Amino acid sequence: MAKIKKLGLRKRIALVAHDNKKADLQDWAIQNRDTLVKHELIATGTTGRKLEEALGVPVKRMLSGPLGGDQQLGALIATGDIDVMIFFWDPMEAQPHDSDVKALLRLGVAWNIPMACDRATADFVMTSPFMNGEYEAAIPDYTDYLSRDISKAATV
Ligand code: PGA
Repeated sequence: MAKIKKLGLRKRIALVAHDNKKADLQDWAIQNRDTLVKHELIATGTTGRKLEEALGVPVKRMLSGPLGGDQQLGALIATGDIDVMIFFWDPMEAQPHDSDVKALLRLGVAWNIPMACDRATADFVMTSPFMNGEYEAAIPDYTDYLSRDISKAATV
């Protein structure tokens, strides 16, 4: 039986936007203000400041993404402290912290976090009945992975 994480009415939403996507995220956030303000908002540094300006509500701010903010969000995902992620990453420009971006996206999938990487998906997520209701999220079970025989891998 898979372990379950019960998400209540107030979700913890992580928000990140790369520089070329920040205006788009601000605009999207204003459009979705009524829903967003019902939840706890957590963001990388600059994204968080821009969201505070756009929404006029407090946003819990991590370090700036390239300075460790992406990794801070990843750590919160791994410890079960983020419920949803909206991540407007830039498909047209390499980032100095591409490795951190990849790691954050990987952890989102590894821990079964609803994750929107573009505006259309973000709209779908925001209007999901689960967003304004409760949801039982399965917590992936990595027991088999952790108990695998790594001595074999080491001798290949
Ligand atoms: P920023 O970080 O919000 O501090 O700009 C976003 C990112 O990961 O690039």
